[in-house]
Formats: sequence, C-alpha cells, structure tokens
Amino acid sequence: MIEIKDLHKSYKMGSNSLHVLKGINFTAEAGELVAIMGSSGSGKSTLLNILGMLDEADSGDYTLDGVPIKNLNETKAAKYRNKFLGFIFQSFNLINYKSALENVALPLYYQKIPRKERQVRAMKYLEQVGLKEWAHHLPSELSGGQKQRVAIARAMAAEPKVLLADEPTGALDSTTSYEVMDLIQKINDQGNTILVVTHEDDIAHMCKRIIHLKDGVIEKDEKVTQVRASQYV
Ligand code: ATP
Ligand code: MG
Repeated sequence: MIEIKDLHKSYKMGSNSLHVLKGINFTAEAGELVAIMGSSGSGKSTLLNILGMLDEADSGDYTLDGVPIKNLNETKAAKYRNKFLGFIFQSFNLINYKSALENVALPLYYQKIPRKERQVRAMKYLEQVGLKEWAHHLPSELSGGQKQRVAIARAMAAEPKVLLADEPTGALDSTTSYEVMDLIQKINDQGNTILVVTHEDDIAHMCKRIIHLKDGVIEKDEKVTQVRASQYV
C-alpha cells in the first residue's frame, strides 16, 4: 500500500540547511496498523506530511497504492489525496461554527457527493464512532475525546484507503487516549491501513508494528507480538 525508498528531506533556513530525513525506507502492506515513534524533532510529522502528500521529499521514491507520487501538479495531487488519504490531527481541526454532522459531511462536499447522500453517510460514520446523539451539537459542546471521534468520523466518511494520524491522542488524558486508540484498532480491523505518530509507548503498543525514527533514519522496525487492548494498558 505504501512503499518509500531512500527518502530525504531538508529544511533550508537562511544559509543553513537542516537534514531531517536521511534515507527512510519502509513498506506498509494494506491493513497494517503502524506506530511511528521518535523524540521531538526527529521528523515524525515531516515524514507523515510527505506520506500525506502535504509536503514533498527532496529525493527518494514514494508509491501509494501502486501509484508513483512524484512531480504531480496540485490538481492531480489533490485528487490522489482525496481518493487515498484521511487525516487525523492532535488538535482535531474541526470547524467551530459547524455541527458534528456538518463537520463530517464537509469533505464529501468537496468530493461532489450529493447533499442527501452526504447527510446519510456522515450520520453513518458518526454512529460508528458512537456519537449519533451528538450529531447536531457544536464542537464547543463536546469533550476532547468526542471531538477526536468526530474528526475520525470525518476522516472515515471519505472512505480513504490509508489513515494518517499525527499524535491523535496528544491532547487527551490517558483514559480518553485509550478509547480513541480502541476506535482506531476497530477501524483497522475493518481493513484500513493506519499510521499513527506518537511519542507514547503505551499508545504505540496498541499498534501492530512500531517504527522508531532517530537521527533521520529508521533505528528499529519492530513487530509488536502482543498488541495491547485498552483495558490491559
Ligand atoms: P514533535 O514530536 O515535536 O512533533 P517531530 O518528530 O514531528 O516532532 P518535525 O515536526 O518533523 O518533528 O520536525 C523535524 C525537524 O524539522 C525539527 O527540528 C523542526 O524544527 C524542523 N522543521 C519542521 N518543519 C519545518 C519547517 N517548515 N521549516 C523549517 N524547519 C522545520
Ligand atoms: Mg510532530
């Protein structure tokens, strides 16, 4: 599903340049649930943004569902992004003046799905994350965990092949974090490929595989033999 080869990325700052990714190689098959760990500044978000086609690598190859992602114009990139990828962020990124339902339905508008179907699909995914009763509430009326579940429903509603989550539990207390990871595990059980950036060991061990980033390379690529369920953490 995801294949990257010898990926490099530097940031230019004045006359200096910061070499963040120094040759990253990995493959994630369809249906994997992978944690990306590493200390602050190790390049986790940089890597995820490249995988999400929100940013471009300086060199290296990236193939997503068999499609080589290189030198695409913005129209084509947006098309692939919408077709293949869903995003979940630490700060939820919901629109404050729109209801939970409207937030979930919004990406479907950009996919030109008719209004009626948008409503039906948004409600289906809100139900899946256990928030049907909260459909007409504003984000300000929801708890952090509920907001993240709305954001997950929004990402799922577009029915992406790959979900990319950057510190999805970073703003949540531990109990709520485990509930959100529980939901991510359930979505993975349905066959979605999911990458979760986290710096928390407990959260990473709720994934099936952990990729450790250090000094710009993959230091360790670990298969989790006993994937933790939230009640055991
Ligand atoms: P955190 O755990 O704190 O979120 P991270 O592993 O996600 O960290 P990145 O955000 O990928 O780290 O940043 C890696 C390095 O690149 C950092 O040193 C950061 O300062 C630098 N960096 C990130 N984005 C930019 C940018 N747009 N311009 C310049 N430098 C950047
Ligand atoms: Mg980050």
